[in-house]
Amino acid sequence: MQNVIRSCEVLCVGDELLLGDVVNTNAAVLARRLSQLGISVHHQCVVGDDDGRLREALALAFSRSDLVITTGGLGPTYDDMTRQTVASVLGRELSLDEQVLADIRGYFERTGRVMTPNNSRQAMVPAGAIVLPNQRGTAPGLIVSDERGENTAILLPGPPGEMRAMLEASVVPYLEARVQGVYVSKNVHVFGMGESQVEHCLGDMMQTLQNPTLAPYCKTGEVRLRVRAHAETQQAAQTLCDEVIERIRNSPVGPFVYGVSRDDGDEYTMEAAVIELARRTGRTVAVAESCTGGLVAKRLTDIPGSSAAVLGGFVTYTNEMKTSLLGVSEQTIREHTEISAEVAAEMARGARRVTGADVAVSTTGVAGPGSDGRFEAGTVYVGISTARGEQVRALSLPSARPRSYIREVAATHALDLIRQTLLEGPVKQG
Ligand code: ATP
Repeated sequence: MQNVIRSCEVLCVGDELLLGDVVNTNAAVLARRLSQLGISVHHQCVVGDDDGRLREALALAFSRSDLVITTGGLGPTYDDMTRQTVASVLGRELSLDEQVLADIRGYFERTGRVMTPNNSRQAMVPAGAIVLPNQRGTAPGLIVSDERGENTAILLPGPPGEMRAMLEASVVPYLEARVQGVYVSKNVHVFGMGESQVEHCLGDMMQTLQNPTLAPYCKTGEVRLRVRAHAETQQAAQTLCDEVIERIRNSPVGPFVYGVSRDDGDEYTMEAAVIELARRTGRTVAVAESCTGGLVAKRLTDIPGSSAAVLGGFVTYTNEMKTSLLGVSEQTIREHTEISAEVAAEMARGARRVTGADVAVSTTGVAGPGSDGRFEAGTVYVGISTARGEQVRALSLPSARPRSYIREVAATHALDLIRQTLLEGPVKQG
């Protein structure tokens, strides 16, 4: 049986990270993937291109984690020192690996570039190391252990594309053979209930559940509940997750759940839920936007396959445009102002009439910052129109929040209103 890996430290090397010139996306990608594999990342560290400080960081990391994964500093230049420093800390000699050198030559030939002598530094391999091929660049990755096999480091290149490809192709299979059991994580997506309220409803479960665990994460105007189970098999872990999700659905939080997703791919979103539902029910959608300025349409059409459901939309910022394009009556605007439930309803009705969509949504309000002299920032009306008629959701979003927040959350409400309308089922004809 191989050593079981339970904990890992991610150590990213590079002055550009310390200076803030480059955002440390590698650490985030690694942490997320390791967590999916059931390996806890207890520490992340960034260290500059400095042999002494890298040595210190490595010694500390080996003292507290089963595994250390580094990124960066594998290049051919003098300041790329990760390979040498790790080899030295682990007491391993470096020697030229002819096969790696041939691979690097091959890469230069294939890409039509000239190989300079310093590139052969990248073919120096510590004794006993496993070489990880780099499909996208020259620097191979390495898995290096000390002679007693007590400390292991995985060295990955800095460029995110190279790092990610090597992680999936070589590192994940290596690690999968060294973790016990299987972890399954699922996200329950909640909208329309604040984090403290969600915690109030599910606090007992969050505190007492051990396997699966249940933890809340806040997103812009949303709450994500992460359910994570460990079991011998995928199926068993899945079943453990599903039981907890069922309990959430049956709790007061249930009506606010808009989706459940596996925690292994792209982020699941309200717009994805809307498009999925519209496609499944064969219904079409249109939008008429004022304060969200096209954001609802943008988010809907971000989803692949949205053309099967989204007919189109309008950005009607001025009152004249609301009237000329959507047929909002001038009298309604005069009597109620353009920031009103009445105008939201007429905008949605107009968008549905012009496009022929089954469902049309509208937004009108004050995105801020500050009041517009009549209404507080965050005053937003979201209208919806179907063959049944119009409905409006009136929002008072927190006025101190930035414009971007108010627009984003207003757009999510608009999407949520479409979703809830689609859930009601089609209007009976005749
Ligand atoms: P190369 O052969 O390209 O020099 P390398 O392994 O030596 O590869 P670095 O020189 O450390 O990698 O980094 C190359 C580039 O990769 C950096 O300039 C930066 O743009 C990007 N990079 C490095 N580390 C990270 C990181 N942790 N997160 C995001 N990007 C990174």
